[in-house]
Amino acid sequence: MEDSHYLTKVLVVDDERDIRDGCERVLSRLGFEVDTAANGEEGLAALEKEPSAIVLLDLKMPGLDGMEVLRRLRESYPEVLVIIVTGFATVETAIEAMKLGAYDFITKPFKPDELRLTVARAAEHQRVKEERDRLWVERERGLWAITTEKSRLKTVINSMAEGVLITDRELRILLCNPAFIRLIGLAQDCAVGTCLDQVAALTPLHEMARQLSQDQSRPQAITKEVFVDKPRATYLRASINTIAGEGGEALGLVTLLQDVTDMKELERKKSEFVAMVTHELRAPLAAVDTQFEVVLKGLAGELTDKQRHLLSRMRKRLGGTLELINDLLDLSRMEARTFVQEKKMVGINPIIREAAEMMEAEVEEKGLTLALYLAPDLPQILVDPQSIREVVVNLLSNAVRYTPAEGLIQVSSGFDAGYVHFTVADTGIGIPKEDLDKIFDRFYRVKSEKTRNVIGTGLGLPIVEAIVKDHLGFVRVASEPDKGTVFRVMLPAVS
Ligand code: ADP
Repeated sequence: MEDSHYLTKVLVVDDERDIRDGCERVLSRLGFEVDTAANGEEGLAALEKEPSAIVLLDLKMPGLDGMEVLRRLRESYPEVLVIIVTGFATVETAIEAMKLGAYDFITKPFKPDELRLTVARAAEHQRVKEERDRLWVERERGLWAITTEKSRLKTVINSMAEGVLITDRELRILLCNPAFIRLIGLAQDCAVGTCLDQVAALTPLHEMARQLSQDQSRPQAITKEVFVDKPRATYLRASINTIAGEGGEALGLVTLLQDVTDMKELERKKSEFVAMVTHELRAPLAAVDTQFEVVLKGLAGELTDKQRHLLSRMRKRLGGTLELINDLLDLSRMEARTFVQEKKMVGINPIIREAAEMMEAEVEEKGLTLALYLAPDLPQILVDPQSIREVVVNLLSNAVRYTPAEGLIQVSSGFDAGYVHFTVADTGIGIPKEDLDKIFDRFYRVKSEKTRNVIGTGLGLPIVEAIVKDHLGFVRVASEPDKGTVFRVMLPAVS
């Protein structure tokens, strides 16, 4: 214990010789190396000549004011711990000094034990801090070791088919493998130590990495699609993950690049095919539907009741098929990104009113009540109005179809935390808890006695979700069987 403070240097700045000598005696016995100065100027000069870890500073000295010395110390030697020495009468000044960044204070007259305790605590604080810094440097060095020729890990990474990029906390390149250089279309190897923002081709990755390293509160990974046009048009899926140290601190980032061009092309072809087939199916079926109407209206001669009944049922089944085809067409268009999208600055309320008008007949036919509670003065949103109207219509149509007669459907709008939102709430059959997270899956329909007679395709909600996601928004649902269901859509407002 006696020599544990060996090498820790303490500078005592005090105009009273007795104090200087007393401190020196007590502290040297503890193993500290002690230097003394009789005033502020001398103290600063001593520090400049040779650094100390701890400074004991008298606040009341002739010449340079103690507070001023403290200010200069904090500015030029922020690492040094300053312990203020002060008389009883100036405790308030001591508090002021603590605000300025002094580490601790001790009041005169003090006993040797008090001094020992205070300085030993400061020394321990310094030791822990140094240890932390040393560990940190070591870990960072560990990450940098990947860059050396001999690293086995480097050999493995270099032979991977996926592009790999490793950067440190300052977003400097530590390693990028040949696949990365090829995929991102760089002319040559990236030099170790280059910051991501210094290479034009890496701009999109720099954006993502900055987002990740700035926002410590979020989950520490981002995946995005990046398009590069050189040397050929390529879609890359870039996933950036934080490399965490033992204490959970971020040491750096690892970026993985995958070429998804072929996959996207395949998906596009598939969507095109579905679009073509559904389109081809829709025209003849729509024609058949019109002919059913003609026959049912009696324009092709009188029908018996039985014939009318049978033909009505046929037409209803045909209607269900047409609905499925329409939904499929929407979905495949959306996937192929040929969905007509003209984003405009609009208010949400007119879109809701329009959708409500479109649903009026069905609401009435089923004996339901539809009420709108639209908040005035909502911020505008940048959306494709037609798509958003489709979202409202789909939600309303579900509310109508899954709510028994005499039920109530309420649509409201509002603004909260940067999002314009609207809610469609019904008093219908509700959705069982176990189905709630599946209803946004394609073709998923809740199977029960109550839904058996409702015609549907299981595509309405996936379409709603795809459109809302495309607008950078969210859909939430809450439901209780036999009580009702609430869907809320949130869309980012334009500030
Ligand atoms: P569908 O054409 O079957 O209505 P959706 O994708 O729109 O397809 O909805 C999926 C399923 O979610 C529905 O089959 C239904 O079981 C359930 N659902 C959706 N909206 C409601 C609602 N408002 N009330 C009760 N159930 C609902």
